[in-house]
Amino acid sequence: MLSTSQSQLALYPSSREEYARHIEQLKTQLLASHLPIEGSKDTELHLQAISKAVIGATAPSYFGFVTGGVTPVAARADNLVTQLDANVQVHLPKYSIATVVEDTALRWLLELLKLDERDWKHRTFTTGATASNILGLACGRDFVVREAGRRNGLEDVSVAEFGLSDALKLVGIEGIQILTTMPHSSIRKASSVVGLGRNSVIDVTDPSTPLLFDLEALKKHLNKPKTVSIVAVSCGEVNTGQFATTRNYMHEIRKLCDDHGAWIHVDAAFGILARCLPAEKFPLLVDGTAGIELADSIASDGHKLFNVPYDCGIFWSKHRDVAESVFQNAGAAYLGSAYSDPNTIASPLNIGIENSRRFRALPMYASLHAYGIQGYVDIIERQVNTARRVASWVNEHEAYTLLPSKTGKGVKNMDNIYMIVLFRASDSGLNDILVDLINESGQMYVSGTAWDDQKAVRIAISNWQVVPEREAKVVESVLEKIANDWAERLV
Ligand SMILES: *Cc1c(COP(=O)(O)O)cnc(C)c1O
Repeated sequence: MLSTSQSQLALYPSSREEYARHIEQLKTQLLASHLPIEGSKDTELHLQAISKAVIGATAPSYFGFVTGGVTPVAARADNLVTQLDANVQVHLPKYSIATVVEDTALRWLLELLKLDERDWKHRTFTTGATASNILGLACGRDFVVREAGRRNGLEDVSVAEFGLSDALKLVGIEGIQILTTMPHSSIRKASSVVGLGRNSVIDVTDPSTPLLFDLEALKKHLNKPKTVSIVAVSCGEVNTGQFATTRNYMHEIRKLCDDHGAWIHVDAAFGILARCLPAEKFPLLVDGTAGIELADSIASDGHKLFNVPYDCGIFWSKHRDVAESVFQNAGAAYLGSAYSDPNTIASPLNIGIENSRRFRALPMYASLHAYGIQGYVDIIERQVNTARRVASWVNEHEAYTLLPSKTGKGVKNMDNIYMIVLFRASDSGLNDILVDLINESGQMYVSGTAWDDQKAVRIAISNWQVVPEREAKVVESVLEKIANDWAERLV
């Protein structure tokens, strides 16, 4: 279970200076030594020293990146996973329930997110949304090449069997492109890993919108001769939290992709949770994520808004046959490989990157069971309400500018704010040092970013414990003090 101290902000436990001294001491003393020849009795001291020099993310006022915290029941389950040290790679229903627990957690997630489990037969836990994006692009790559072959009268030409260059030659295709808008950096990384290359990622954002495709440009790219496409849609852009997955819009993209044999991958690392919110209270968020169900594959994260410990990612796809083509761990009789019956649970090693793997489904199972649909809706509602409260306050304050901002003060519609608040200081001198000033307060932690080529600050509300009034007060008092100190030239 989490102790109280763990749920407080672990940053700068006493003072910033002392924290810096502690880090320096660790680097130059404890960690500069050689591996002991004989085992040491001081390991516990080392663990304590190290844990005091790591920024924990379990506190509700940790607003960096998008991290989430850890529900107590997930922490308990995670300890149990370590105690069991079970390897969840082969479905062995006579000997272990682990794969059934994993599949139950994955089906419960679909239920929470209002997705039909009959559509999403390829489902697995990964190490994070980056790994899930790799799965999505790997499956998409196999599908689009196979589909190009089919359209040229060739059955079963797969990248999985032939390799990328031979498969492309066989089906008469010269290139695979990834069409996207403001993708998370991990999409480019994933495209490198699966052999398509970062240059294959083409940003087709409509410049008049923050995140949507320029549909005419998308059509033009899809029509490119001898080229097949994966369309990667952002659901939860990392700076603004905005979505490109509204229902009508996704219908149009789906039609275009069906015409061209393209695969749709949605990167919904944290955005997907908007689907569990009540539509009456959060219409723009619910509509913004309604089109996800039209995708071929979805990447998401457990260790962010679901508040289970690192590392836990989630992947779903509608094409289990593709998964078993790409990830089949062929030729290992002792692992009981071979293609499985699509109506039974797949052995995880045949549908994902890893062979041996942690029982990382258990914390998710436990947290879903303990909180239920109501509990998770409540967590997400509190996160959104905290973000909106902070955003309104920032928007009214003359020292700060809420982003993306084309409208000016006082007229901003908060209904499209999800759980990230993007802003900057109106004064560029203050803006340059704002992230450091906020983090040096020791009361909250934020990440910096760039927006419209200038520095900006992100406050990402992703902890299960947040209380809108309480967390907003922390933010307001820190930002108010910084604004006052700056006005009086005290910083
Ligand atoms: C965080 C994030 C990722 C990467 O997820 P990891 O869990 O860090 O691997 C990918 N896409 C989006 C939109 C994200 O927010």
